[in-house]
Amino acid sequence: MGASWVENAEIDVKIGLECHAQLLTKSKLFCSCSTDYHDAEPNTHVCPTCLGLPGALPVINERAIRYGIKVALALGCTVQPQIIFYRKNYYYPDLPRGFQITQYEFPIAFNGLVRVESNGEKEGVIRIKRVHMEEDPGRLVYRGTIDTAPYSLVDYNRSGIPLVEIVTEPDLKSPKEARIFLGKLRSILEYLGVFEGDLEGAMRVDANISVGGGERAEVKNISSYKGVEKALSFEITRQKNLVRRDLTVRQETRHYDEVRGVTLSLRTKEFEHDYRYFPEPDLVPILISNRIEEIKQEIPELPDEKRARFLAQYALTGEHANALTFDLQIADFYEAVAAKIDPKLSATWIADVLKGELNYRSISMREASKRISPDDFVAILGYLKKGVITERGATEILREMLDHGGKPEAIITSKGLASIASAEIEKAIDMVIKENEAAVQDYQAGKMEALHFLVGQVMKHTRGRSDPKEVRTMLEEKLKA
Ligand SMILES: [Zn+2]
Repeated sequence: MGASWVENAEIDVKIGLECHAQLLTKSKLFCSCSTDYHDAEPNTHVCPTCLGLPGALPVINERAIRYGIKVALALGCTVQPQIIFYRKNYYYPDLPRGFQITQYEFPIAFNGLVRVESNGEKEGVIRIKRVHMEEDPGRLVYRGTIDTAPYSLVDYNRSGIPLVEIVTEPDLKSPKEARIFLGKLRSILEYLGVFEGDLEGAMRVDANISVGGGERAEVKNISSYKGVEKALSFEITRQKNLVRRDLTVRQETRHYDEVRGVTLSLRTKEFEHDYRYFPEPDLVPILISNRIEEIKQEIPELPDEKRARFLAQYALTGEHANALTFDLQIADFYEAVAAKIDPKLSATWIADVLKGELNYRSISMREASKRISPDDFVAILGYLKKGVITERGATEILREMLDHGGKPEAIITSKGLASIASAEIEKAIDMVIKENEAAVQDYQAGKMEALHFLVGQVMKHTRGRSDPKEVRTMLEEKLKA
């Protein structure tokens, strides 16, 4: 058997994800404590209910349930007529009650799907097995890493935050596809206005991985989007190596060590019966069938629909349509700009240039829009179209606005970015021709690189205030003369 594995380098990989997303309600799932805990001192947003003190009773947060139903509908799931909360019994210091209130046999919904497309590659369909709601446990803070920390601290501010758990079928075939899926899921949840992916810990993922039809190992609690791809890559390599050496992959739960980029065995996998699920006696079953139609009306245009509309309405390339619809803030910014100026030019400058500048600075469109408005952007593109500034000048204005604020007109003046007149370009060309005889001869001998070099020299002399295409044309005319 070993030999056949060696021959067959492509071992079948199956990945299923359980994605826990924090819902953006104002209060927790079963009490009125504030969910705004990210900058709060530890254990300041707590009450007897979310601390799990004896006798404290849960009261359901209606908005959280509405948000959960929205998510299920947006993922194309079949929403169930009623939901029932269950107790999942286990002990862990982040869960002082000794059980987590979650859903089991009667979750919000079953059977949805998410389409994923990776840069023009074939579209994949990831089936969603179920969507249910549960409470977030508290947060353990380790000094150092989980296996070396001398002690850990616990913060219950997070305890009771509403989570929606989205469970996929094992349809994902690679770590990259898993990353793309998570990006898409994030995008859908943000479109719904029920989630903010930038918040620390907003999305946490458990991943089930099996190779070659063997046992699955579960990697728990991966807390960053990049972490998911890395943890999966490590785990797949680990399992493939076991298989190649004819060793068995054990069914177990593993922890992902983000710092070292490895997965470590935590415990052998529990089975469902270990949790002794039973209905939560302090909450009644909740009928939701009478709400579904009303909530359907609140579902906005979702990423796939917006992408299709952008393709048709603005005649964009598929790549631009993807880039502009991934993030709702960027999509809205684009539409505000495209309403006032050339939609194709706007697409290029937002999808290619602005997004690049945002990535470079690791800032979101939400943050950037405090410094640059759609009208500013329209003004920059207007100056560019009229030839008042060059492409390089336009990029420089963008950078200046993102870094220091200011208005396009003022920056053109203060940085001297206005394009220069042809006469001045001509002077620069004459100078460059005189200074670079060797390159001129090379060009006349048919070497095109020499022309690129000469254009570069003219650009340098005019400090980017000339348009390279115009320089090239003028230069060629001179050199032919
Ligand atoms: Zn509370």
